[in-house]
Amino acid sequence: MTTTLQDCRARDAQDPLRSLREHFTLPEGTIYLDGNSLGALPRATAARVAQVVQGEWGEGLITSWNQAGWVDLPARLGDQFAPWIGAGPGQVVFTDTTSINLYKVLTAAARVARQDGPGRTRIVSERSNFPTDLYIAQSVCEQHGLALVLVEPEEIDAHLTDDTAILLLTHVNYRTGAMHDMAAVTARAHARGILCVWDLCHSAGAVPVDLLGADADYAVGCGYKYLNGGPGAPAFVWAHPRLAGRFEQPLSGWFGHAAPFAFTPEYRPAPGIGRYLCGTQPIVSLSALQCGLDVFSAAADLGGMAALRAKSLALTDLFIDLVQAQCAGHGLGLATPLAPHQRGSQVSLTRDEGAYAIVQALIARGVVGDFRKGDGGNGLHKDILRFGFTPLYTRFEDVWHAVQHLREVLEGGEWQRPQFHQINAVT
Ligand SMILES: *Cc1c(COP(=O)(O)O)cnc(C)c1O
Repeated sequence: MTTTLQDCRARDAQDPLRSLREHFTLPEGTIYLDGNSLGALPRATAARVAQVVQGEWGEGLITSWNQAGWVDLPARLGDQFAPWIGAGPGQVVFTDTTSINLYKVLTAAARVARQDGPGRTRIVSERSNFPTDLYIAQSVCEQHGLALVLVEPEEIDAHLTDDTAILLLTHVNYRTGAMHDMAAVTARAHARGILCVWDLCHSAGAVPVDLLGADADYAVGCGYKYLNGGPGAPAFVWAHPRLAGRFEQPLSGWFGHAAPFAFTPEYRPAPGIGRYLCGTQPIVSLSALQCGLDVFSAAADLGGMAALRAKSLALTDLFIDLVQAQCAGHGLGLATPLAPHQRGSQVSLTRDEGAYAIVQALIARGVVGDFRKGDGGNGLHKDILRFGFTPLYTRFEDVWHAVQHLREVLEGGEWQRPQFHQINAVT
């Protein structure tokens, strides 16, 4: 039986998470399917930022480091969010960017690996990993005399060898939305003595993550995607307690010192994850991020991650079904796995031609997804039309309308207009 708009509206009316949409400011007439790239603006953020700027900074001035609790904001936010990634209190801090945090943990992991297994000379990752992860890994390899080996997902197991030091994976692939089984992959790597570094940029706040349960070694993730922290929001970093106090991370700044205000000339790292801070923290950005994390605290009372995941899968299932039913014959393929346990919170469609222009034509109609370039390599990584379904604020009705627009753009050949073929700086 085909799903109708009325069915979608009925599902929205019964959605236990429907009140969460009220926590966001979404522009009228926009169907936002790009919360996996830049999350939407929480309603509380503007007033909170104004209060931090005018009250805490303007009035409180430097006393706000103590009085307003600025000094432990990275750790407080880490504790607030830790349960959503299966981490314990005191194990997570929000600071710096994902790229920078990845540099810190990869370097620490390289030092641990070198001490535990001097013969291990390789970092293994996926060729289709997010480029910044690979660029950072290249730099760490150069600095530590390691080799970066890039493989396809199905080749990973064969590369868990005795000369591999670190397996660096992104849990949910940014392009395809394919999700690894974190516990199983980590167990296989550990059986060969290999450390696992997980990038949670497309999983934190979107899919269940259990870092301690999976016995992961290190993790990093993004604050401005599913966490709705705002453009350039601080990222998070986690190290397993058995590793957090082992080795210094390379950016040994004073905020990661055991006693920053002792002003000693020698660096002495804070005992746990606190050493992963570097310099003075971006308080305004951290305060904005907190408003995003607060929405998750509200979601915890409505069923938590189990409810978010159920809705996310229902949204992506619906999108896939409707595209297959309504857009057949237009050359669209599906890059996202159909199996729910292998799927993140996005759907990636492929098309041999015009993917970029189709996305632009949709944006002109108020349906905001994005385009991700294929790497032009061996045909495994095609150009992608990417649609993120963040369960905090996406409605079933939105999915319905998005597919109608996609069908119209394809049927009318609207995407072939020249204006949709201009390539912007940010895609
Ligand atoms: C978004 C994303 C990043 C972004 O890193 P920044 O340092 O915030 O620019 C890194 N890795 C992955 C896998 C991502 O999806």
